[in-house]
Amino acid sequence: MKTWDVVIIGGGVIGLSLARSLRHSGASVLVVDKAEPAREATHAAGGMIAHCDPGNPPALARMIAASGRMYPQFIAELRAEAFESPDLREDGTIAFPGDGESPACKGARSLQDEELLQLEPLIALRGRAYFMPECSVDPRKLASALEKAARKLGVDFVTGSAVTEVAVLGGRVTGARTAKSFYMAAAVVNCAGAWASQMKPFGMPTRPVKGQMVCVVPPAGVHTAGPLIRHVVRTPDLYIIPRSDRRILLGATVEEAGFDKHVDADTVQRLHQAAIHVVPEIAQMRIHDAWAGLRPGSPDGLPILGATSLPGYYAATGHYRDGIMLAPLTAEVMTQLLKGRSPDFDMTPFSPLRFL
Ligand SMILES: Cc1cc2nc3c(=O)[nH]c(=O)nc-3n(C[C@H](O)[C@H](O)[C@H](O)COP(=O)(O)OP(=O)(O)OC[C@H]3O[C@@H](n4cnc5c(N)ncnc54)[C@H](O)[C@@H]3O)c2cc1C
Repeated sequence: MKTWDVVIIGGGVIGLSLARSLRHSGASVLVVDKAEPAREATHAAGGMIAHCDPGNPPALARMIAASGRMYPQFIAELRAEAFESPDLREDGTIAFPGDGESPACKGARSLQDEELLQLEPLIALRGRAYFMPECSVDPRKLASALEKAARKLGVDFVTGSAVTEVAVLGGRVTGARTAKSFYMAAAVVNCAGAWASQMKPFGMPTRPVKGQMVCVVPPAGVHTAGPLIRHVVRTPDLYIIPRSDRRILLGATVEEAGFDKHVDADTVQRLHQAAIHVVPEIAQMRIHDAWAGLRPGSPDGLPILGATSLPGYYAATGHYRDGIMLAPLTAEVMTQLLKGRSPDFDMTPFSPLRFL
C-alpha cells in the first residue's frame, strides 16, 4: 500500500501552496479534493494582496506584511516551475478609506486631486484618497500554476472524492478516509476551507461567508491595449480590480447565508451601479458573468494554523478574506511546523487549540 508523509484535505489555494512547499522540502504529499482543485473560495476570489488595508485584523499585521513581501518572489518561482503567469499586477491600489482609517504600510501616501487624476484619469470620486503599493493576482491562474507546479514536483492528487474522516490508531493519525478509500500518512492537514468543520473525529470551526462578485468586459468591437483602469480601486463599499486581459471585477458582498452560492440579480445591479459611481466609464462595459464563493470564516476572524490536540492532525484554514494574500506565508510556516521546526512567527494566536 502506498503511503505519504502528508495528506492534505482540500486543494484550494492554501492546500495547493502547502503541497508545493512541503514537496520542495522533501516530503511526499497527497492532495485529496472533493471536486476539482480550487473550484471554491479560491475560484471566486478577487486576488488583491491588500497588505496596506487598514481594515486588516491587527493580530495579523506582521503575517500579512510578511506574506505581501513574499509575493513577487513566490510568483517568480511559480512562473519558472509551471510556465504559467498568474497575472501579477503591481500598479498599486488607490483607496478611499472609511472615516478615521488610514493605511499603515511603507510606501502608502495620500493623494491630492491632481495626482489622483494623473494616476487614474477615469476616477470620478473625490475626497481623501491614498496610493498604496499593493499588488493583485488572478486567483484562478494562480491556482492553476500552483497545481501544475505541485504535479511537476511529484505531488499526488485524488479528485472528486471527499475526505470524511481523519483515521486514528493508538491515539495518533494514520491517514485519511474517503467513502471508498483509505490513504495512509503520518500527518493529515485540514485545508478544507468553509467545509473544514465537517471532518471526523473533529473539524475546525470555520463557517461559510458568502461573497458575490461581478465581472464586466469592454463592449464587443472595442479594442484597447489594457484594462480601463490600471490600479485596484477600493472604497468602503466596493472594490474594482482590473485584469490584464481587460476584464474588471467588481466586489464583493459579505453575507452570512450558509452554504448558499446563489447569485441575485439585484446584487449584480447594485455592484455595477456602485462601480459606475466611482468610474463612470464602467457604464459602457458589459456584464460578462457573476458568481458567489464561500470564504472560510473563523469565530475570532483569524486563521486556524498548526497542530491540533490529536498527534499528526493539523489545520491550515479559516483565512476568511485573506487566503490569497496569506497563501505564501501559510505554506512556509506550516511546512516549518510539519517538519518539526519553529516558525519565525509566534503562532499561538492562530493555534487550533484555542477552540478546543
Ligand atoms: C468573493 C470573494 C473575494 C475574495 N477576494 C479575496 C482577495 O481579494 N484577496 C484574498 O487574499 N482573499 C480573497 N478572498 C478569500 C479567499 O478566496 C479565501 O480566503 C481562500 O481562497 C481560502 O482558500 P482555501 O484553500 O482555504 O479554501 P477553498 O479555496 O475554499 O478550498 C477548499 C478546498 O477544500 C475542498 N474540500 C472541502 N471539503 C473537502 C473534503 N471533505 N474532502 C476533500 N476536499 C474538500 C474544496 O473542494 C476546495 O477545493 C475572497 C473570497 C471571496 C469569496
